[in-house]
Amino acid sequence: MTGYRGRFAPTPSGPLHFGSLIAALASFLDARRAGGEWLLRIEDIDPPRCPAGAADVILRQLEAFGLHWDGPVLWQHDRDAAYAAALEKLEALGLAYPCSCSRKQWREHSVYPGWCREGVREPEKPVAWRLRSDLGLRPVVWQDRLFGVQRFDPADLGDVVLQRKDGLWAYQLAVVVDDADQGISDVVRGFDLLDNTPWQRQLQHALGLPEPRYLHLPLIVNRDGQKLSKQNLAPALPLEDHVVRPLLHRALVALDQTPPAELGTAPVAEQLAWASGNWEPQRIHAEAHRRE
Ligand code: GLU
Repeated sequence: MTGYRGRFAPTPSGPLHFGSLIAALASFLDARRAGGEWLLRIEDIDPPRCPAGAADVILRQLEAFGLHWDGPVLWQHDRDAAYAAALEKLEALGLAYPCSCSRKQWREHSVYPGWCREGVREPEKPVAWRLRSDLGLRPVVWQDRLFGVQRFDPADLGDVVLQRKDGLWAYQLAVVVDDADQGISDVVRGFDLLDNTPWQRQLQHALGLPEPRYLHLPLIVNRDGQKLSKQNLAPALPLEDHVVRPLLHRALVALDQTPPAELGTAPVAEQLAWASGNWEPQRIHAEAHRRE
């Protein structure tokens, strides 16, 4: 397939772990199988969550697993102007509005009820910017490559935040602007982000951007059913080749790709060559969660 462009977009809140390896590996293999490009974007829009040096560790971990990306790394901390331009465009279209409400004020509602849509209630307070979801009022529908047809009602989505009160950009806006600017055709990522996709589709529609295809992957959880994370002490991916090799093999098994057993000790380049030649995402069992 020509024109395929995938990406891996980690938040550098800590080193990669087995769960992030699954997302990186699957998006890499999907791109390579299609003869496409695979880009790397570091999603460091929320500095307090991103300790110094974490992004460099991630780059080294990807290299240790042979997951070499194409082109320069895109850093979200450099992208202020692009996000601001998108917000301005939405505002000009009447699709974004400032909002002074605090979560405490609307806590009895399941989503923000849109009180500031017709004018900020308390203009002297700091404001966040939200997307108006009540104007188009069409359900958000798309076909996930693994989980099939997805349908979300805008009333259940509410008016998503685009820029926070502290001035930081919200993930939903940044990811949509960056996926479009990087020309991403295919998003492959964990199931925990499936329910973020409808906001991203709404935003793509509002901004007149192309809609990538989506493939969400079973999310790797620990024995207690929790997503692997720094908070629950998921071990960081190793850098030593003799530990990397069997772990890469384990990740291929977790993606239901049935690699031959003897491949488990082979160099990473060899494992990846086998895996990209044999990549069949439809083999992945479509379950939301998968034990480590
Ligand atoms: N930065 C997000 C994360 O690390 C992933 C974003 C995406 O793949 O869309 O969870």
